[in-house]
Amino acid sequence: MTRVVVAGAGPVGLSAALALARRGVAVTVLKQGAGLAAESRASTFHPPTLELLARLGVVTELLAAGIVAATFQYRERGGAAVATLDLGVLADDTPYPYRVQCEQSKLTPILLRALPAHAEVWFGHRVEGVRADGDGVTVSTTWGRVRADWLIGADGAHSVVRAAVGAGFDGSTYPERFLVASVDEDLTAALPGIAPINYVFDPVEWLVLLRTPEQWRVLLPAPGDTDDATEIRRLPDRLTEVADLGRPWRLSHASLYRVHQRVTERFRHGRVLLAGDAAHVNNPLGGLGMNSGIHDAVTLAEALADVLSGAPEARLDAAAAHRHRVAVEHVQATSDANYRRMRGDLNAFRDQVRRLAADPAAARDHLRRACLIDTLRVPGAERLP
Ligand SMILES: Cc1cc2nc3c(=O)[nH]c(=O)nc-3n(C[C@H](O)[C@H](O)[C@H](O)COP(=O)(O)OP(=O)(O)OC[C@H]3O[C@@H](n4cnc5c(N)ncnc54)[C@H](O)[C@@H]3O)c2cc1C
Repeated sequence: MTRVVVAGAGPVGLSAALALARRGVAVTVLKQGAGLAAESRASTFHPPTLELLARLGVVTELLAAGIVAATFQYRERGGAAVATLDLGVLADDTPYPYRVQCEQSKLTPILLRALPAHAEVWFGHRVEGVRADGDGVTVSTTWGRVRADWLIGADGAHSVVRAAVGAGFDGSTYPERFLVASVDEDLTAALPGIAPINYVFDPVEWLVLLRTPEQWRVLLPAPGDTDDATEIRRLPDRLTEVADLGRPWRLSHASLYRVHQRVTERFRHGRVLLAGDAAHVNNPLGGLGMNSGIHDAVTLAEALADVLSGAPEARLDAAAAHRHRVAVEHVQATSDANYRRMRGDLNAFRDQVRRLAADPAAARDHLRRACLIDTLRVPGAERLP
């Protein structure tokens, strides 16, 4: 039986494994560490991602674990909503005209449980090197070598697979860092009328407020050149400036991130494919990293399954080229525009979002692009034999 090895058991690696396994392909996922990551990272699922998760048979479980967010808001800091955008305008475009707020650490166990017996996950197997040849790939791990017909590198931003095939990761790093705080507070009481997802305007200190099933998350900019301890010490005062609760906010976790915009030059290197953060990273504004990574995973896995069933490799080349184009032209472009708008001319931004909220046709066009709804189809794939 053909064996595909997937490096990494994040949302991207496990989605690729499940998509392949559902097509009858034997898959082995190699995962460093003893279990799945519990880290608090992505928390927003967009409509086309929900469609793909439905195709993989796991959307019902995700919906049960998350919160449906039918609207999101742009707000003044300490003030009222500037505009509310209603994802209901996408009702003719998708069976899921909403975003689902749920941590990625709740999706990965769902994907893991859905894997059939011919898809195995080997924990404690860190990938350390890759040697590709004409008819396969040898993957070196902490526990010895594994031979595969194909390898999908879904081992995150510091991908060993990407480095092993000699692929670059060009792009840039923002001067600011992002500070993400998880708080045990009910912000719906503190900021009445708030939506589950809120982009808050401020000329100096923009921020994002995101509801997750058990908590709220606050995303704030932080200077690039201070030390982490200083920023964590300042955090309680910054949270009080977001909403004064008359006491310190109950803070459960906070992390600082340096944020990059980077894309590798090709997603296919012979028998090795790159997907998700291993292939492209972007800032989290708009929630595109994990979503587009899952889109890479399913698109590449389904094209690979077609090739394993006899389709020409041109199908895989088309899928890989398409996903690279989407990463550059949509994911990088939209996430960077989201960042610049939050720090740019706020009056122009206010006017733009008010116009969108008042015009359902314009809102629909905007939201289709913002949630990557138009990027899933591989152009020309249907014309390949
Ligand atoms: C604060 C924050 C908020 C975010 N919010 C959003 C959001 O709302 N929406 C969104 O779409 N995206 C968001 N993102 C981005 C999102 O978290 C990533 O895009 C997503 O995790 C990528 O998934 P992945 O599976 O490619 O990589 P990862 O999640 O990094 O998974 C990589 C996997 O590979 C394993 N691994 C790594 N190296 C090796 C090795 N050598 N051998 C074996 N296994 C290995 C790791 O253990 C892990 O299992 C956010 C990111 C951050 C930091």
